[in-house]
Amino acid sequence: MNLGMLKLFSTIALFCTLSFAQNMDFTLIEKGEKDSDNKLLIVGGIQGDEPGSFMAASLLATHYEITKGSVWIVPNFNFYSIIKSNRGPFGDLNRKFDQLPKDDPDYDSIERMKKIITDKNVKMVINLHDGSGFYREKYIDKWHQPRRWGQATIIDQQHIEGIPYGNLEEIAGQVDTYINQRLLDEEHKFHTKNTQTYLKKTYEEKEMSKTLTYFAISSGKAAFGNESSKSLPVNERVYYKLLALEKFMDIMGIEYKRKFELNAHALKDVIDNDIFISFNDKKIFIPLSRIRPWITYFPVKKGDTITFKPSSPIMTVLEEEDKYVVYYGNRRLTTLVPEYLDYDKFDDTIKIDIDGKVKEVNLGSLVEVENYFNVSPDERIRVNVIGYVNKKHKNESGLNIREKYLLERYSIDKDGKRYRIEIYDNHKKDKFLGMILVEFTQKQ
Ligand SMILES: [Zn+2]
Repeated sequence: MNLGMLKLFSTIALFCTLSFAQNMDFTLIEKGEKDSDNKLLIVGGIQGDEPGSFMAASLLATHYEITKGSVWIVPNFNFYSIIKSNRGPFGDLNRKFDQLPKDDPDYDSIERMKKIITDKNVKMVINLHDGSGFYREKYIDKWHQPRRWGQATIIDQQHIEGIPYGNLEEIAGQVDTYINQRLLDEEHKFHTKNTQTYLKKTYEEKEMSKTLTYFAISSGKAAFGNESSKSLPVNERVYYKLLALEKFMDIMGIEYKRKFELNAHALKDVIDNDIFISFNDKKIFIPLSRIRPWITYFPVKKGDTITFKPSSPIMTVLEEEDKYVVYYGNRRLTTLVPEYLDYDKFDDTIKIDIDGKVKEVNLGSLVEVENYFNVSPDERIRVNVIGYVNKKHKNESGLNIREKYLLERYSIDKDGKRYRIEIYDNHKKDKFLGMILVEFTQKQ
């Protein structure tokens, strides 16, 4: 873990309060001024095999603060298809906005989304996609031509009379210009693609009339599609998406603060490393950066369903064959092999000597250690340091524990730096109270 990341840990911990049930319904995250009548609605993850889309929407939800105006974000519209990394297990969600039979498995989702789009305060709608190749007005080659979708701002028509932001083509042009001043490569240049959906003559025009943006337009809302190219790595797709979204917000007079520097490199770090999850009312905290694919003996409350708080709205935990799999978008991060234990509540702090300084540490935290740690003996608790092998002690408090005393394969991360200290009640049948993580910061 680098230093930049540590800062992010502390600043985004706030968003840990977002709580998600284990169902696959999409989430609506409301940011900024509640009663604004100038809301921007951003939809990500309409197709689960387009990670640029749901990653960008999710980062806007967790790593931006809206300081003026209001943004509504649905980062995981087709959550099930995201987890499955599939365009749409029940068919393409972006072809279901025209007519849909009531027995369609996506019917409720579509109805819920239509209500959000038609909310009287929503004035602009943006649907995020990853598209193939690079859109160009004239044919250049197979991957750069009018039939491609990547690197384009999509409009259904030039303008709509009598609605806010109805000058669609002009706005799209402003967004393209803004992005084109910040390209990573000339090939990535943005253009506006007008699908002329209202003509409904060609196959494509007919298809487009079933989409979310056309539904929005038909409901009197300015709407845009944003397509970044599937030829680019995800962090670069997200880079272009966030540039576009920032410009759209700017056009609407919406102001924001971002918690990282907007460049492709920083984005990769944020996407891959600034992720974590907590369990059991935050008594267990697990950073997911460089997590091992399997974590064994993971304490789960006996006779109860697992409860968790993810750092991202596109993260969830699914029970699969008596194990718990942590998903992040369409990445399978780790599998937790449960050990079912009786739990008890313990809200006090634990005294730990870290490199010669005694600190009061809450359960569910991560502490950094340079040389050694020593959990102060406390007759209320029993301490078990996972990976520390010393058969003499049932209770591993009062011992100076150094990195070299720990078996590396018991670390929770692939680098062998983070270890679990499990705390149990010393009297009441050894009930599990919570976990603290230590991270050794010295390079070996
Ligand atoms: Zn798409």
